[in-house]
Amino acid sequence: MSGSPAARGVTPLAAPANVQTPASGASEIVMGTYARQDIVFARGEGVWLTTTTGERYLDFGSGIAVNNLGHTHPHLVAALKGQAETLWHTSNLYRVEGQETVAARLAALTFAERIFFCNSGAEACEGAIKIARRYHFVSGHPERQRIITFQGAFHGRTLTTLAAGGNPKYLEGFAPAADGFDQVPFGDHEALKAAITPATAAIMIEPIQGEGGVRMVPSQCLIGLREMCDAHGLLLIFDEVQTGVGRSGKLFAHEWAGITPDIMAVAKGLGGGFPVGAILATANAASGMTPGTHGSTFGGNPLAMAVANAVLDVVTAPGFLEDVQHRALRLKQGLASLKDRFPAIVEDCRGTGFLTGLKLKANMQPAPLVNAARAEHLLVVGAGDNTVRVVPPLIATESEIADGIDRLARALDHVTRSSVA
Ligand SMILES: *Cc1c(COP(=O)(O)O)cnc(C)c1O
Repeated sequence: MSGSPAARGVTPLAAPANVQTPASGASEIVMGTYARQDIVFARGEGVWLTTTTGERYLDFGSGIAVNNLGHTHPHLVAALKGQAETLWHTSNLYRVEGQETVAARLAALTFAERIFFCNSGAEACEGAIKIARRYHFVSGHPERQRIITFQGAFHGRTLTTLAAGGNPKYLEGFAPAADGFDQVPFGDHEALKAAITPATAAIMIEPIQGEGGVRMVPSQCLIGLREMCDAHGLLLIFDEVQTGVGRSGKLFAHEWAGITPDIMAVAKGLGGGFPVGAILATANAASGMTPGTHGSTFGGNPLAMAVANAVLDVVTAPGFLEDVQHRALRLKQGLASLKDRFPAIVEDCRGTGFLTGLKLKANMQPAPLVNAARAEHLLVVGAGDNTVRVVPPLIATESEIADGIDRLARALDHVTRSSVA
């Protein structure tokens, strides 16, 4: 599946003839919650996106770590088309064959014994929180309601997941913040120990903070968290919404540490661009989730399941992830070379697999570099902690990776000149 660019249909594209131009001023009708870049894409193939005016961009943002298999991957397109002609939606009032197929596959590939399908990362995180509270409720500890989270975390934009993430910028104006979260500084073991009380239900963490700036939690710390949870009867929740489905070079990032959580939230890469999320849990952790305790109208509908199943076909094909790890070395080497070449701007290169980033010097914001990269027709994504995320589709070839690094070098050169001027 990872074959040659030609096999994936990566050919130069002409501008599509039939693009409908929206009415002038229509972009203001779309609620202004994003400071959007003034660029409109009409189509995508592999790692390339083409604008409505026919300009091609190398996509090293993957729609924020979503398009793990690039754009219009033929196997995903075939799965979606096939399902579109068969059945779209029936509701969770009935058994859904696709859910059973995908659930069985995910269970065979992970620690999970019970899986709930939803539509987004926030919904998966929110459900993970509900499962943890409910577990203690049915286990005779209804007082165990609080979840420990970490500074710099991101778990989504619902009121509860915002409170879990604890980012004051995102919470401003949305008071009262949902109760039930105790946040500790990233990497502060003493604060973590002190935060555990008889009211603690779970610890929730991203194995690699994505939005927070590609900050990796060392394997030793993940192992320590597992031990701490076991010692105190807490559930361990991993938010693998961004790190999951091959992004780290393993199917799930926690595999690098050799331990498993009790509950895991998954979304972004799972549908390769089709909205789908999942909550994975052990049977024990999910023991409170009886009929009527949770639901989602669209969650796990046949369209989403057909695509998720096709994504798993590709990502779990023999050799695929080994090949990702191999090409990820090139990416890492490329980023390290940029750190060496631009020491005035780049403080560090971070991450693992295809979840990488450049941490910039303390006085540098990500936006100028993101904009300079876009001028080089390269898409990358800003993040917290002065970091620019470099998250190409997992199918990017070595030459596409080299191309992206060259464009980043030109962008860094541009930023260097303009910060000197
Ligand atoms: C993106 C993200 C979310 C939220 O996902 P949405 O689909 O935007 O709701 C939650 N957790 C992590 C780690 C994420 O990266």
